Amino acid sequence: MSYLQLLKALKKENAEKERISKLIEEAEEVSKATQGAEKAEKAEKAPFLKPTGAVSSCYAHPFPDAIEGLGRRHVEALSSCANCETGTWSFYGPWPLCLRCANLGRSG
Ligand SMILES: [Zn+2]
Repeated sequence: MSYLQLLKALKKENAEKERISKLIEEAEEVSKATQGAEKAEKAEKAPFLKPTGAVSSCYAHPFPDAIEGLGRRHVEALSSCANCETGTWSFYGPWPLCLRCANLGRSG
């Protein structure tokens, strides 16, 4: 093999390597794009996994969400109802109220 032939062979080999590495790069880009597409698809689907609409009211049904003049319902440590001394976790403003008394004060 002459020096020229050797050089040509090397050049061909290099050209081949370059072609392969370009193919690899392209394949990587395609796989990245595909992953991106998959992610986009997941992002599009994500909202459907979440509950739709407002989740505010009546999650503590049958407790009213708020009592006019007292305030919104919230949960604190077990206390005695301010009205009848039944144990309750539900507070309206500063007042612990059991289910029965909360519904007595129900505004709507
Ligand atoms: Zn009560």
